[in-house]
Amino acid sequence: MTWGLRFRVWVCLIGICATSPAWAADLLTANVTLIDGTGAPAVKGAWVSVKDGRIDRISRAPIRAANADKIDGKGKYLIPGLIDIHVHLKGGGAWGDKPAPDIEKSLKGLRAYLDNGVTTIFDAGNNPEFIYGLRAQERAGEIVSPRIFATGQVFGASSLRGRGQDPNALPDWPEIEARLERVIAMKPDVQKFSFERFGANTGEVIPLIPLDAMARIVAYVHAKNVRTTIHITDEVIASTVVAAGMSTPEHPVVTAPISDALAKRIVDGKIAFATTFSIFDDTEGMGWPAWTKPMIAIAQANVKNLVEHGGIAALGSDHFDAAMVHHEIMRIGQMGLPPTTTLRIATLNGAIFIGREKEFGSLERGKWADMVLLDADPLADLTNLKRIHAVYKAGQRIQ
Ligand SMILES: [Zn+2]
Repeated sequence: MTWGLRFRVWVCLIGICATSPAWAADLLTANVTLIDGTGAPAVKGAWVSVKDGRIDRISRAPIRAANADKIDGKGKYLIPGLIDIHVHLKGGGAWGDKPAPDIEKSLKGLRAYLDNGVTTIFDAGNNPEFIYGLRAQERAGEIVSPRIFATGQVFGASSLRGRGQDPNALPDWPEIEARLERVIAMKPDVQKFSFERFGANTGEVIPLIPLDAMARIVAYVHAKNVRTTIHITDEVIASTVVAAGMSTPEHPVVTAPISDALAKRIVDGKIAFATTFSIFDDTEGMGWPAWTKPMIAIAQANVKNLVEHGGIAALGSDHFDAAMVHHEIMRIGQMGLPPTTTLRIATLNGAIFIGREKEFGSLERGKWADMVLLDADPLADLTNLKRIHAVYKAGQRIQ
């Protein structure tokens, strides 16, 4: 130890080293209550500095950063930007959303997500040219938008065999491979599949494609370094897709309590899944019969069961409306989990779902500074997540 260092340690021991050396930072939030999104308890009096768009330092002691833009965090709460991993953005013309493309409509929708504190979305099915075009513009910094991740075209059962055809009469593998290559060529962030009936619960019932074919498709896509997600509704389908090695179901099981065996496979396999409770608040709008309404409570019980055993639930609204993110948070909150867990479901777990948790999703050193500053404590009341003071994407203030 040099004499200089020894002197400094000694000075610190007697408690006068509060003035750390000046730190190069672009943005400094001072004396804020930090809720980092990992599920850890809130930290009062935190200092958070941002450099080149990323979280650079988090400290309980004051950080000196002479040239940084300073935010007085007193009485405020800093959380990661919210993430919705089941969106179908409006304006793309998918599912009767006409006229399309309507870029004005989609840009308004994207802006609304940011204004509601949502800094990342995963579009789980849309017109591919439309959504991949917006994704390219977002990544080039040309539009005001949350981070866009997308699947483009959902690879459905009809992509394989056509509606109403014998489920076992699949095309030969080279033909399936060619069809898979066509969707992979568009660079989905996660490729979504739907191998069951059309519509969530009420459409035409078609048998699942055989497990070995599904497993081969999944393995092929994963070998191309593309994650997979899939529409599910019930135990049989969920068990099959888990056995086939799918990365992430885009819904919980909604028809009945899941078996312990399936719960164990999901938890042990660290398989993230979407919540999508809100969709059952609009069964009339979806044209579903009244008997689908109680599925919300079944879904909540299944998700609660999984989360309490260590499962990774991620907020997905299955909607196109930013306000529905807060509605989904209310539905997640109804499960009675600790509020730090609810917040993790709405942030870090979404990043895990899309495989980007090393880049963002929580407020930790080195991650993108996607942050929301709140005027009231979200852990005291989840509706305080709407008390938005400022939204930052990669350290840039949006709102
Ligand atoms: Zn959906």
